[in-house]
Amino acid sequence: MTITCNSPGCSNTSNLKSVEDSYFCEDCRSAHSKNVLMLQVEHEKPIRDIILDSRIFKNANGMADYIGVTFVTLYDWIRKYFLNEEGEGMTFQEFRRDFICKPKKCILLDIRKSTYHRPDYIVRKIRNRGKCACINSMNSSYIMTSATISELRELLAGSPELKKVSDGYYAMSPSPVKFFHAKPVKIINFSAVHIGMSYTPVHFSRL
Ligand SMILES: [Zn+2]
Repeated sequence: MTITCNSPGCSNTSNLKSVEDSYFCEDCRSAHSKNVLMLQVEHEKPIRDIILDSRIFKNANGMADYIGVTFVTLYDWIRKYFLNEEGEGMTFQEFRRDFICKPKKCILLDIRKSTYHRPDYIVRKIRNRGKCACINSMNSSYIMTSATISELRELLAGSPELKKVSDGYYAMSPSPVKFFHAKPVKIINFSAVHIGMSYTPVHFSRL
């Protein structure tokens, strides 16, 4: 009886070596870590498909939990098994954009000139409204979101200005200073302060 490699989809029969209770060919052993080899057998599908299945959890922690690895390992696997347009391993953000984000049309929000210095805070606010948002993995001053400009204006405190730079690209800056008619300030006149028992008036000069 010929034994074939136990990796799903692989039919190699030569140079098999046993790893735990399974047999793997040389190609598979050099392509994958032991952990990945065993997972593929357990799930009966290639690691890419296992990672894609885990997308129902939408975030790295849930996905890593489903696969049974740390999210650091998950990031490493995404980098190893998924390539971006430049042929480089994908970051989690790139993976999310390509495989998780449903809306294909996102706007790019540049917050460099705004008073917001916490992109994660903005992202959380947008997500709380049920919209998609993520921080650009190359530059944390850029947020990609499916929220519309009017939704952003509404949900961000301080009504920041959102200027259109080009199609789908907006820059956020602080709103212009508003001038209000100030109520006259009451000036309390401290004319004297009693110190101890001496009752010596101390006069404050006013400019
Ligand atoms: Zn194989």
